[in-house]
Order: sequence, then structure tokens, then C-alpha cells
Amino acid sequence: MKAEILSLLRKTEGYISGQELCERFGVTRAAVWKVINGLKKEGYGIEAVTGRGYRLSSLPDVFSAEELESRMHTEWAGRNLVFYESTGSTNIQAKLLAEEGAPSGTLVVAEKQTQGRGRRGRTWASPAGRNLYFTILLKPEFAPDKASMLTLVMALAVQGAVAEVCGVDAQIKWPNDVVVNGRKVTGILTEMSVQGEYIQHVVIGVGVNVKEQEFVPELKEKAASLEQESGMPVSRAALLEKIMEHFEHDYTLFMKKLNLSLLLEQYNAVLVNCGREVRVLDPAGEYMGIAQGINEKGELCVEVSGKKVKKVYAGEVSVRGVYGYV
Ligand code: ATP
Repeated sequence: MKAEILSLLRKTEGYISGQELCERFGVTRAAVWKVINGLKKEGYGIEAVTGRGYRLSSLPDVFSAEELESRMHTEWAGRNLVFYESTGSTNIQAKLLAEEGAPSGTLVVAEKQTQGRGRRGRTWASPAGRNLYFTILLKPEFAPDKASMLTLVMALAVQGAVAEVCGVDAQIKWPNDVVVNGRKVTGILTEMSVQGEYIQHVVIGVGVNVKEQEFVPELKEKAASLEQESGMPVSRAALLEKIMEHFEHDYTLFMKKLNLSLLLEQYNAVLVNCGREVRVLDPAGEYMGIAQGINEKGELCVEVSGKKVKKVYAGEVSVRGVYGYV
């Protein structure tokens, strides 16, 4: 009820009467008053005027289960939300919840991760109070070989939301890093559980650097936060709300064709590597070429020596710029 009251207060211009809230939720005035008091304690500015009701007068940058629930207006993405103050990794929690029967679309969010991970066993720096760490759980009914494309769908959703909320020129470094001014603001780790030929579940974990923060020396050159790059305050809750909206939309387009053909143009338009010389860090041997963009399977097409085009599959490969990260 707290999240619903918050959502109503946010939507209502002017006052909403205590009576209306009581009728809507079938509770007493005392119960409504208790919720309003709880919201005030969390920092929301709520004016109460006799005879008129309640009005939201200031919106603090709260990051809590209720704040997030009150912002989810999607059909399924993030509608079932599980929030942790601290957890090892949101991907690990999402997998446990999947095994306990959590529905597809479940969103696991943490204020802090103690074992944040990246691809190939790398770590993801996850301090408290500064960033977004979340995982969406999916239970799709397509063949396992399609799942790696979901990483690119999420990258596009995060890029779109970042551009919309922060007004910055966000780009994607293939396959799934979101970069602003050439620095990494987001990492994505997709993991899947398969039984026979069927996917049991896919978890897509995302870390977004939001608030100003001091990065460890190894990351100083490469990483950045959205507030640092945009010079504006960024609300984590507002950003996550937009990411879920974009993800639901982009995932629906992906499901229509079971490939990236309907998202290809949009993805390539924001691909930082497009038309640039890249170093492909393939475990079988490193090589250079000019990146042309992705194909509908999400592979990066790289023109190498002459006119030959190699298709690079994301699984084991990283791409770098010739002189640095992009
Ligand atoms: P790349 O393609 O650049 O090799 P990746 O997609 O393979 O990246 P990820 O799994 O996305 O790598 O992220 C892990 C890497 O990101 C770490 O090795 C570290 O260099 C970097 N990193 C860790 N924490 C952060 C952070 N909070 N912000 C930005 N970069 C980070």
C-alpha cells in the first residue's frame, strides 16, 4: 500500500483527500496516516491540509523498495521486485529466486554488492549508496544459442535510458559496455541455466555508476559516473524506472524476430566502435580491423586486411580501441 500511495501522490496534481485514500485501499484513516508518517520519515515532503488532504511537496532522492515499486509502470519488467540492502551479487540472488519459482521479469536490486562480478571472473566495484546494481530474471522459451543477444538488448536499453534521463551522449562499446565520453559507466553480465535443449532461466545483471565517486587506481582512466559526466544530479530510482521501460520495449522487438534485426539500426547508431579501428582480443590470437557494426545475431563485423570481414562473437572476446579502451 505504501508504494501505491506514493505512486498516487506523485501522479496527483494538488491534494488527494484522506477519505479517497481510505476508500481506495479499504483501510482506516489511522492506517493511511501511518503510511504518510512513514513516508515523511524517509524524507518525502508531504503537506497535510485539513479539509483538502495530502500533497507531495518535495521529492528526495530515495532509493528503496517502495520508491522503486511506485515507479514501475511496465507490464512485466520489474513488476515483481526484490530489494536487498546488501547482497553478494544480484545475479546469484536472481538465480536462487528463479529456482524457487520467481516469475519471469522479476527484478533484483541491491544497494550494495559484496561480490560484484563481471565477465570471465572479473570483479565489478560495487560500493554502497552510489550506484545501481540490479538483475532481471527471464524465463524465455527460445533456444539457448539466442540468449547471448539479450546482453545487447539490455545494453541498448541502458544506453537509451541514460541518454533520456541524464541528457548525455551515451554510446555502446561492443558488445555491452555503456560509455560516456569514452569512459565506462555500465557493465552487464548475462548468465543462463540450461537443461537439455531448454533454457531454465537467464539472468541479466547490470551495474551503473551513478553518483560521484572515487574509483580505485586501476579504474581511474577507464571508468566514470553519470553525475561526473553530465554535471547534473541523477536519481537512481528514476534511471532504473526508465531502464525497465526501455528494456521491456526493446525485448518485445527482439522477441518478434528472435534476433536483433528490429534493433540493428538503433544499436549501430550508438555503437562507439562503428567505423573505427579496433583491436580484437581473441583468445585464439589478437588482430586489428575496422569495425563496421553488428549483424542481426549481434556479432561485430570487422573488416580485416583488405576486404575480408570477420564476424566476432561476443562470448570470449573483448574489443579495444587502438590507443585505449574505445
Ligand atoms: P571489456 O570488454 O572492456 O573487457 P567486459 O565487458 O569484458 O569489458 P565487464 O565484465 O563488463 O568486462 O566488466 C569487468 C571489468 O570492468 C573489470 O575488469 C574492470 O576493468 C572494470 N570495472 C570494474 N568495476 C567497474 C566499475 N564500477 N565501473 C567501471 N568499470 C569497472
